[in-house]
Amino acid sequence: MTEELAILRSKAAQIHERLIEAYGTPCWTKIDGVSELVSTILSQNTNDGNRDLAYVRLRARFPTWEQVRDADAESVVDAIRPAGLSNQKGPRIQAALRRITHERGELNIDFLAALPVEDARRWLLNIHGVGPKTAAIVLLFCYDMPAFPVDTHVHRVTGRLGLRPESMNANDAHTLMEKLSPPGAEGPFHLNMIRHGREVCPARAPACERCVLRDLCAHGAGVSGVGGKPQFVSRG
Ligand code: SF4
Repeated sequence: MTEELAILRSKAAQIHERLIEAYGTPCWTKIDGVSELVSTILSQNTNDGNRDLAYVRLRARFPTWEQVRDADAESVVDAIRPAGLSNQKGPRIQAALRRITHERGELNIDFLAALPVEDARRWLLNIHGVGPKTAAIVLLFCYDMPAFPVDTHVHRVTGRLGLRPESMNANDAHTLMEKLSPPGAEGPFHLNMIRHGREVCPARAPACERCVLRDLCAHGAGVSGVGGKPQFVSRG
């Protein structure tokens, strides 16, 4: 390991510990890989509320993934309309379901759990419409693999904190964050960083004066505020 990587790993571990202290250890409901894949495609370029509404409507209209796969395209597009970009996402979801069926003979991707993480990632990335973030979400949250999804919040916060070069794109940041995250803590670290990005470090007007990471952050270092000791936000 290079010295620079070791320093960044140490900083990432400190950040993770601070976020755990501030927000606690988040947990999540595990769902099967196909359902997570569809849900993640629905979440592209929209918020969680719209994604959830589209997902519930889709499941209500088509209770099985086989029914979604075989439905006429317009019905699927109509069901997922709240997620936005439904004319793209509908065909993308159906194509993914057809591809899985073609490759595996069924709508089940649990075989990924037995593969090395890079083989599992490569298999997912071969599905049209599945990028590094979607693949990492499925690998991490369904199969407990050491993947680190980088969404817009994680990308912004890691840039401000100096965990990655400012110019690094989100795709490359996945590879870097998988090296920097404390092993086994990828899920909580990812979720807490999203929460921090939403509640304290949004794109506009980050609240550096009450940020628990301020003394670790080049962006926040120049902000005048409430003294040197970080202020912890409330849980809940
Ligand atoms: S100090 Fe400011 S810029 Fe840095 S992580 Fe905290 S809120 Fe974001």
